[in-house]
Order: sequence, then C-alpha cells, then structure tokens
Amino acid sequence: MRGQGGTPIPAGENGSGPARSLQGAAIPTGWLILLLGLLCSCLGAAPQETPRPRVLAFYSTDGEGDHTDFALQAVPFFRQAAERGHFTFEATTRWEDLNPTNLRDCRLILWLNDIPRSVAQREAFRAYMERGGSWLGFHFAGYTDSGTQWPWYVGFLGGGEYSGNNWPPLPAVLSVDDPANPVTAHLPSRFLSPANEWYTWTPNPRLNPHVKVLLTLDPSNLPLGFKETIQSGDVPVVWTNTGYRMIYMNMGHGDRIFDDPAQDRMFEDAVLWLLAPR
Ligand code: ZN
Repeated sequence: MRGQGGTPIPAGENGSGPARSLQGAAIPTGWLILLLGLLCSCLGAAPQETPRPRVLAFYSTDGEGDHTDFALQAVPFFRQAAERGHFTFEATTRWEDLNPTNLRDCRLILWLNDIPRSVAQREAFRAYMERGGSWLGFHFAGYTDSGTQWPWYVGFLGGGEYSGNNWPPLPAVLSVDDPANPVTAHLPSRFLSPANEWYTWTPNPRLNPHVKVLLTLDPSNLPLGFKETIQSGDVPVVWTNTGYRMIYMNMGHGDRIFDDPAQDRMFEDAVLWLLAPR
C-alpha cells in the first residue's frame, strides 16, 4: 500500500509496523515482504514453463512425385498444428537423423512418405518404439512387400503386406469404426475423404488381435478404380497396433489430401492423442 505521491503510510494506519532501512528511512513491513518475494522469484523460485514435446517428421523427395507432393503439404500443415497444439515440429529428409542420440528427447516420429532403409536407422526406430516412443505413419510408409526385408516392421504395422491399390487416385467414403476414440471422435460416421490411392494388405491387419481399426473404406465404394481396381473386401484405412503407441493412416498420395477440414482435424487429433500422457 502506498499513500499519496508514493509516501509510505505511517504505522497504525495500515496495520503493519514500520521497519528500518539501512539508511534509517521507514519501510512498512508489508512492502518488505513483497520485495523479498520478488527477489526470491528473480532468483529462480518462479515455476518453470513445461517444455513443449518434440515431434520429428521424416520424408523423402526422391520417390514418387505424388508422395513428395503430400509430404510438402504435410510439413507446413503440421508446423501450423504445432502452434495450436503446443508442440515443437521439425521435418527432415535426412534419414540418418533417425539415430539414438537424436531420438532421445523425441516424443513423436512421423513418416510422411517413406521408411528407413539402413539397418542402423531401422534398429534406432525399433528401440525407440519398444521403449515407449510414438509414431504416426502415412500412406507409402505402409507399403511393404518381399523387398522390404524388415519383418519386425511388418509385424509392427499389423502383419499384412501391401497387396493392391486403386488407380487413378479417387475420393472414397470412409466409415468410422470407433466413434469413442479421440482420433475419430469428431468425424461424421461416414465422410468423403479426398482423392487418394487406397492400399489393400494381405493378410488383413484387422485379423491381428492387437490391431484396432479406426477407419474403414466403406463397402459402397467398391469396386473402386479404373486402371487398377479394388474389387471387394474389407479395407482398413486407419488403425493402431495396440502393442505400441502408433497410428497408421493410408492417406498420403497427391496434393488433395488436406482438402477436407474434418479429415485435417483427424490428423491433428492423432498427433495430440499420441502425445497425450497415458
Ligand atoms: Zn501412392
């Protein structure tokens, strides 16, 4: 409390007794406590701001052009999402950055359009996931065949290998398997997802008891495609292997993927779900 013109209020009017400064001037006790409190704050007693979780995206620009197009749109999308979601976001084409030192403080890895090719990078990723790391993979990250030569990763994805796709890329109606899951909670039960090349896998990842499918290609789309056609069957599109903190999303081919606001929100909600403490 201060009187007119900054003059300390004399003792007896503010209920606190005066204290003597070194110069002998009177300083009310209340002010002394306040000043001491401020001093303590300056010395580091203030609460520390929680560091933002670190999200690291990997992608390639030397593969199929439609996959590069997606990655080049995904990078600014997730950079903006980082501002809204209070995480830090870095994106790189340097797959050698997939190493134990760099992953030590990483909370979430994104693979936008590729997978690591070297044994060292693959081993760094496996170790990261097995100690509780998080991963979100898109489209071509789920392309596995006999040339992939990484059985652990095929199992991590759910156990299926790529077995076909539609061509050309087409929009498709997707249906929500689990409206209670935070990743799909804000989606309509069925919605038209923008043009994409939709993959199928054999065996179907849904047959894996650890896999929880979140979005499925609605049967009303089938047959889907012209030059190449998905004729029939159950086609999971987004799922998680509950043995890990991971989500795979088949979207990621071409430059239309971010055209649907509801789907965009799902991408963002997936990041937040993977970052959330559990
Ligand atoms: Zn593709």
